[in-house]
Amino acid sequence: MGTIVVFIDQVDTPGRLHPTALQLLTLARAAGEPVAVVAGPVGAELAAELGAYGVARILHSTQAELADYLVAPKADLVAQAAASVSATAVLLDNGPQGKEIAARVGVALNAGVVTDAVAVEAVDGALVAQKSVLAGSYTVVARATSAVAVITVKSHSVEAAPAAAAAAPAVESVEVAFAPASLGARVVQRTPRAASGRPELEDARIVVAGGRGVDGDFGPVEELADVLGAAVGASRAATDAGWIAHTAQVGQTGKKVSPQLYVSVGISGAIQQKAGMQTSKVIVAVNKDPESPIFEIADFGIVGDLFKVLPQAVEEIKRRRA
Ligand SMILES: Cc1cc2nc3c(=O)[nH]c(=O)nc-3n(C[C@H](O)[C@H](O)[C@H](O)COP(=O)(O)OP(=O)(O)OC[C@H]3O[C@@H](n4cnc5c(N)ncnc54)[C@H](O)[C@@H]3O)c2cc1C
Repeated sequence: MGTIVVFIDQVDTPGRLHPTALQLLTLARAAGEPVAVVAGPVGAELAAELGAYGVARILHSTQAELADYLVAPKADLVAQAAASVSATAVLLDNGPQGKEIAARVGVALNAGVVTDAVAVEAVDGALVAQKSVLAGSYTVVARATSAVAVITVKSHSVEAAPAAAAAAPAVESVEVAFAPASLGARVVQRTPRAASGRPELEDARIVVAGGRGVDGDFGPVEELADVLGAAVGASRAATDAGWIAHTAQVGQTGKKVSPQLYVSVGISGAIQQKAGMQTSKVIVAVNKDPESPIFEIADFGIVGDLFKVLPQAVEEIKRRRA
């Protein structure tokens, strides 16, 4: 079994592992020896949490450049740490930062890069990744032909599970030699986004998304999202109309999500929308048009007016929970 590096970005969430990190560690443990590479300090609590997921070795750096500059210094850390442990694979999250780090690490290590993976497993000593492509109409199995494979994995591709026996990880501090070009763009200000209280779209286990059918009123969509503890997504028609922020857009030119449950509300199911949500485990569609293409991919469909269906669903969920 090879050594698999999992990148853990602790700069923004000190001492607490993100659910996506736990999923990556679970995948790495199933396929090889996981080594955590952490951008930030590693306290006893974090080390114990990593150990619980089977990590026996942690490499970390607290150099200021990792927090003060954009993504490139983190790529230097990951590439140099992966080389130092002779990693056969590097796993990262599939967000914009994870993908950018993957690309830079790929160049630094002369490694093949696979993005948007929905499953990863070891076959004959090498990692193979599954991707869902062309709006979900094909599943592709990809394998790097290089000595190291760099793979970004979509959230919820695997259920996070701690190791049968926890490890007591060795924590090693590494000194990263940052490339001059990596320090080309510095962060000069940070303004936290106002917290919505809802989970992040790309990490959420449940997404409720609204389209043109909501006709400017996301209230029913938000209410259903809140009783389910879900994130709110949208079609491009809804974001272009200014009914909700562009950051909520799901699809080819929006975010790619793969939750356990995707509730599509008043969305027709254009190919560009499907491209961002078709790998969801269960798809429920609410649409008043029985011919709408969304019903072709929905596991459960409700033909009806969303303004009547959603409040009833909310009431029923509340009643059952009472
Ligand atoms: C290059 C390119 C990139 C694109 N990228 C994206 C992308 O990333 N994401 C994306 O979403 N789109 C994207 N699009 C746009 C995409 O082609 C569609 O135009 C868009 O997804 C349509 O959004 P919609 O389904 O909300 O609207 P519509 O297609 O207008 O569908 C609205 C649906 O709501 C239903 N409806 C109406 N009223 C109700 C009601 N009261 N109750 C229940 N149902 C109701 C209707 O029956 C209909 O099916 C892209 C297009 C291009 C060309």
